[in-house]
Amino acid sequence: MHRTSLYIDGTFTPPESGRHFPAIDPATEDPFAEVAAGQAEDIDRAVRAARRAFDAGGWSGLDGKDRAIVLRRIADGIRTRLHDIALLEVRDNGKPLPEAEWDVGDAAFCFDYYADLAEHRATQPAETVDLGDARFEGKIHREPLGVIGAITPWNFPLLMAVWKVAPALAAGCTIVLKPSELCSLSCEALAQVIDAAGVPPGVFNLVTGTGPEAGQPLADHPLVDKLAFTGSVATGRKVMQAASAGIRAVSLELGGKSPFVVFDDCDIDKAVEWIMFGIFWNKGEVCSATSRVLVQRGLYDRLLDRLRTAAEAIVIGSGETPGVKLGPLVSRGQYDKVRAAIEAGRRSGARLITGGGRPAGLDRGYYLTPTIFADVPTEAAIWREEVFGPVLCINPFDTEQEAIELANDSPYGLAAAVMSDDPDRCDRVAARLRAGVVWINCSQPTFTQLPWGGYKTSGIGRELGQAGYDACCEIKQITRFDHNLHWGWYLDAPK
Ligand code: NAD
Repeated sequence: MHRTSLYIDGTFTPPESGRHFPAIDPATEDPFAEVAAGQAEDIDRAVRAARRAFDAGGWSGLDGKDRAIVLRRIADGIRTRLHDIALLEVRDNGKPLPEAEWDVGDAAFCFDYYADLAEHRATQPAETVDLGDARFEGKIHREPLGVIGAITPWNFPLLMAVWKVAPALAAGCTIVLKPSELCSLSCEALAQVIDAAGVPPGVFNLVTGTGPEAGQPLADHPLVDKLAFTGSVATGRKVMQAASAGIRAVSLELGGKSPFVVFDDCDIDKAVEWIMFGIFWNKGEVCSATSRVLVQRGLYDRLLDRLRTAAEAIVIGSGETPGVKLGPLVSRGQYDKVRAAIEAGRRSGARLITGGGRPAGLDRGYYLTPTIFADVPTEAAIWREEVFGPVLCINPFDTEQEAIELANDSPYGLAAAVMSDDPDRCDRVAARLRAGVVWINCSQPTFTQLPWGGYKTSGIGRELGQAGYDACCEIKQITRFDHNLHWGWYLDAPK
């Protein structure tokens, strides 16, 4: 059975404790690999290596054009191993292979995108600002921020890591990555690709391990300049507390309970397709899943019927089986959590339209039938709290104003979607939805070029796009006084 390694200071190494824990295939419930259980001492070594590498300037001081060459090598390395890495994701996470291949392709593109940006930024002169005083010249420089501590979740194990690693490397930062203990294998593959691409020792480091044993020491480490976290609100709070203790920068990409507003003028087939994609793709284990659907009353009953039929037709099975569109949930813990949320949903008085149980013929593995609740009490946990599984809640609305109020009635604000044949209405509603990501006439397509992040308790900061690069930079102003002039506050001008 494969035993993973940590990657610290340019070397693949076992954890100091010598301990490993099993990686479980959610389709079979059997272990298939052993993951290195990194702890505080491994984190400390990795952070010190990242600190040394940053301060030495070999990477941070490199021209962006030269960093871009290395980033493109990483992109090529991922593409060369695309199928193998996708299979690792399937075995670790349970997602269907075509979805995993899509994720890995996106990860490669993310490196290419940030390579282009690093190259472009290298050609840009520092911004000059008119200060309204000819004696002074003001310039704004962007510099690599420093050592980034990245802590990532299990739902897109490689991609969520790459969203942090690619812009950090592009901007000249060094990084210590701590992926989720539930899905660590593709990040080991990333370390192998990065190593082969010739990234200097210490610039990228990987420490696998649990949240308390490896994540918390990374969050607490005083030599980390910025914490970049993706995961649950509860853990995000701990990471922010750790950042506050050291007055360190922090970005948080947290959970959601995203609404999808569907007006009754739209084509029912399109509505069914995008509602399903919004919640059943990646098993609903998607931070931006549009898990709360609001449907205008004229379409409500017909749409429920169509959704029931379509959901019951989804092929469920191992992610490696061709044609499967819904794999097993990631772990026993997540399976139990989602089942408990469904039970609470039933007890809340919501009407179960379909699903909510184990699919026939799949006795092992964390399988769940796609689940739809309608007429959900808006105070029920199933309507308000993130389930992070293939569980959809649908309620009717009458007016545009009511839809907007219901959509915004949430502590979260990561994403939202609206569908209507009337483009003006879509624009109007999109403008009023309190979310960092709004989709019109679709749900979930995510582009590296656009900023990603949430309002309210869904997070702080933005990843991806130019914003993701800037989030890895410090801003420095340089103010120059004309050396030939005299200031004349304490000393008179020379005669
Ligand atoms: P989680 O919070 O349980 O774990 C996330 C990471 O934090 C893991 O690596 C974990 O080991 C680590 N961790 C746990 N305790 C820690 C501690 N005390 N200190 C430091 N690190 C610690 O989340 P999860 O279950 O892995 O992921 C699911 C959550 O992630 C969902 O809420 C989902 O919405 C969110 N998510 C958000 C986005 C986004 O872009 N906004 C993307 C993907 C997932």
